Amino acid sequence: MRVTIDEDKCCGYAACLSVAAEIFDLASDNIATVLVEHPDGELRDQARAAAAACPTSAITIAEQE
Ligand code: SF4
Repeated sequence: MRVTIDEDKCCGYAACLSVAAEIFDLASDNIATVLVEHPDGELRDQARAAAAACPTSAITIAEQE
């Protein structure tokens, strides 16, 4: 799995942090950053939940590396 963020779509709502604080952080410019680009185990479910929760569909989950 690979997690990426489209910075042009991210509006800093922080929904991803509330769902998966171990995977995402919010930079000082209010754009989310990916802390764990290749999550394992239960973090994968958190990554998928964060992508579903993002109001601007800025998070992409590639199931294949
Ligand atoms: S939920 Fe989406 S829009 Fe909000 S900070 Fe995370 S990536 Fe950005």
